[in-house]
Formats: sequence, C-alpha cells, structure tokens
Amino acid sequence: MAQERTYIMVKPDGVERGLVGEIIKRFENRGFKLLALKALQPSRDLLEKHYADLSSKPFFPKLVDYMLSGPVVGMVWAGKEVVKTGRVMLGATNPLASAPGTIRGDYAIDVGKNICHGSDAVESAEKEIALWFPEGVLNYERSLDKLIYE
Ligand code: UDP
Ligand code: MG
Repeated sequence: MAQERTYIMVKPDGVERGLVGEIIKRFENRGFKLLALKALQPSRDLLEKHYADLSSKPFFPKLVDYMLSGPVVGMVWAGKEVVKTGRVMLGATNPLASAPGTIRGDYAIDVGKNICHGSDAVESAEKEIALWFPEGVLNYERSLDKLIYE
C-alpha cells in the first residue's frame, strides 16, 4: 500500500532552541513512520524554490533571511492522512492562534519565528520531498504498523 507522505522541517530557530528531538518525538509517538532525515544549511536558491508560492508576499524577503539564518532539519514522515494531521500537530501559522498541545502552540509566539514547517497538501508534499531529498527517501515495511492500523 502506498502511504501518504509529508515534508516536515525544523526551522533555524527550532534547531537552535534544541527542539529537533521534541518534534521528532511527537511524530514518532503518534505512529507515523520516518522515511528520511537530514540536517543542512539550505541555500537561498533552495529556499526560494521551496517558498516560490509566497514570492509576491511582502514578508517574503524576511522569510528567506530567517530561513537562511542557520541549519534546518528536514524529514519525511509517512502514514494515513499524515499531511493534514501533520499540520494539525504543528498548529496555526501564527503561533498565538495555535492551540496549546500543538508544536507552535507549545513553543512559539511570533509568526516569523514559528519553529517548524509542514506541507499543506499531498501534491505540495511530494514536490517538497523531491526538492529537499533529490537523492530519494526510504520505502520500507514496518512491523509496528500492525499495532497502529486496523
Ligand atoms: N510568514 C510570516 N508572516 C506572515 C505569514 C507567514 O513571516 O504573515 C512566514 C511563517 O514563518 C510561515 C511561512 O512564512 O510559516 C510560510 O507561510 P505559510 O502561509 O505557508 O504558513 P505555514 O504553511 O508555514 O503555516
Ligand atoms: Mg505553507
């Protein structure tokens, strides 16, 4: 069975604040499956491609500078409805509007320092996975899934 996949990224502020493990833990605990993980200093070109849909927004230059300010940790998670559920786990774009219990609702305040990224649709997720992991990602069966899915 081909499982839905999403691209989750800890932004530079999340990496500096030591929240990588916390974010991974939440996706692991929920039962999603890790297919890829890497730390990297993204280039301006990569970030401009990643956020191409937002290039006309007034906050775009500030957003790219923020994302260039340090290393990020990108990952690919798989599972049932992982794109939508990943967004719920992240919380609202503006952390002040994020419910407690969400990642942004528990660890962030300002929209320009919201610590994490999550794909917003299955199609954009696949585009982002290809962009951030041109080398490809894992595809494996996990025995644990028998305990998670009915
Ligand atoms: N952003 C910002 N100001 C805004 C809206 C967005 O700085 O008014 C930043 C914020 O870091 C956000 C990113 O731009 O996470 C991408 O915006 P998008 O609307 O795609 O939000 P997301 O999908 O990350 O929730
Ligand atoms: Mg977005």
